[in-house]
Amino acid sequence: MARDKVCKKNGNSPKFTLHNIRGHGFCCKPQAACACLAAEGVTLSLRMNYQLIPKELRPIAEKVEAQQRISEADALSLYCANDLNALGMIANVVRERANGNYATYIHNRYINYSNICILSCQFCAFAAKKRDAHAFEYAIDEIVRVVSDALPLGITEVHMVGGLHPTLKKEWYLDLLRRLRALDPQLHIKAFTAIEVRHLAQRIFRMPIRDTLETLRDEGLGSITGGGAEIFDPGVRDQICRGKETAAEWLDVHRTWHSMGGRSTCTMLYGHIETLAHRADHLRQLRQLQDETGGFTGFVPFAFEPSQSHGILAHIKRASAFDQLRNLAVSRIYLDNIDHLTAYWVSLGLPLAQVSLSYGVDDLHGTILEEKIFHMAGATTPQQQTVAALEHAIREAGREPVQRDSHYRHLNGTRQVERPDERELVCA
Ligand code: SF4
Repeated sequence: MARDKVCKKNGNSPKFTLHNIRGHGFCCKPQAACACLAAEGVTLSLRMNYQLIPKELRPIAEKVEAQQRISEADALSLYCANDLNALGMIANVVRERANGNYATYIHNRYINYSNICILSCQFCAFAAKKRDAHAFEYAIDEIVRVVSDALPLGITEVHMVGGLHPTLKKEWYLDLLRRLRALDPQLHIKAFTAIEVRHLAQRIFRMPIRDTLETLRDEGLGSITGGGAEIFDPGVRDQICRGKETAAEWLDVHRTWHSMGGRSTCTMLYGHIETLAHRADHLRQLRQLQDETGGFTGFVPFAFEPSQSHGILAHIKRASAFDQLRNLAVSRIYLDNIDHLTAYWVSLGLPLAQVSLSYGVDDLHGTILEEKIFHMAGATTPQQQTVAALEHAIREAGREPVQRDSHYRHLNGTRQVERPDERELVCA
């Protein structure tokens, strides 16, 4: 059992599905009977209308309503269903049970410190070799300046990932964390995918994973990011990201971080060569680790961006809106032990992310302030959103917007004022 898994209301160990809402922490009651939810005035009003659910999905819907866990085979049946509204209805019950009517967002700043990478994943249009014209590498001073410029806007998190850089030294990474920490001790530094952590451990720090994570944490790392998971199936990985860590290695970095009391998010990159069974298998492995550690705060699936694709991925078309909503709904229904489901608007676009709030999603990710990875791959969505745009999208969808921190805890009354000129960025 993870270190902090104790109900904050009565100190008991949790016996049921855990959730975390309004900063109350973990609960020992089933969500439907949770005092934390009741204290917040959240009523669980959603019910299935079985007449609107196709016959073949009703046994799964009944399990969900009874708060029973669905199987991987059930997840595959849901993936094969084409009644999107029925999936949305089932997912909505799970969403409301876990999060009431709240939908969250974070005020954050993305930084990609470098795109220089020793690997060449087939789906990645971001990475470059040092000799390439589009290779970049920011100096620590530049990164610190960008983050200090964002602090007065009210950001609570800096989200920082990069390629597997061959020559940056251990001291560079530690100095970067130290300098960011010194800027504002309250600023949450979410950084490095599990594959970057392995790269640092094996090639740069030359230390075990745990020692590497402890060293990074000592210098200011607040949480690790969920990237690099792609699709766990080894056959798929061999074709789209040969040489990258295995599923077991990705999971092990998160397991180690969770065992240190850390929290993290998890992801899935879908809509390329994987099958629906591969997606269900991916979800199964995430749910299994979550059963073991409880350390995942949220799940963030995103579709492959095909604009710049070539080789084995050249023929891939962008995932349809239908497929993206279905993937979110199935994820929400299956991942009964991960509290939050995030719609990554950079991939979906804000209009579809807004619609996804009726398909199981309870979080619209963040302001981001400058996304590079998807945009270098050809994404046509904006590179940032304002708080006003995110709140408007949530409110219009009938949910109550709440700013959150990096662990999806609600922040009440801490939002700061944006610069007036940024209000012009309300767009999708
Ligand atoms: S996905 Fe990550 S590891 Fe793979 S090439 Fe791109 S930056 Fe490198």
